Amino acid sequence: MSESPDKTTELIRLLQNTTDQEIDCDTFWEKAAELAERDISLPIGDLKTYLHHLELCPGCAEEFALLKMVINE
Ligand SMILES: [Zn+2]
Repeated sequence: MSESPDKTTELIRLLQNTTDQEIDCDTFWEKAAELAERDISLPIGDLKTYLHHLELCPGCAEEFALLKMVINE
């Protein structure tokens, strides 16, 4: 039985497209203030992970933009 191998390939491709580490919203907000202040002492790998979350999560992206506005006022 070889059923839709294309789908599997597509799925694998999508999985490989994500970064090696995904975080959830809670984890993001643990560091969000630091990020917003641009006082970034995070390793570049972590930084990418956090920015990646903003791309995936419109809700956090919106709130983060607001937070940045307040902090950088
Ligand atoms: Zn989020």
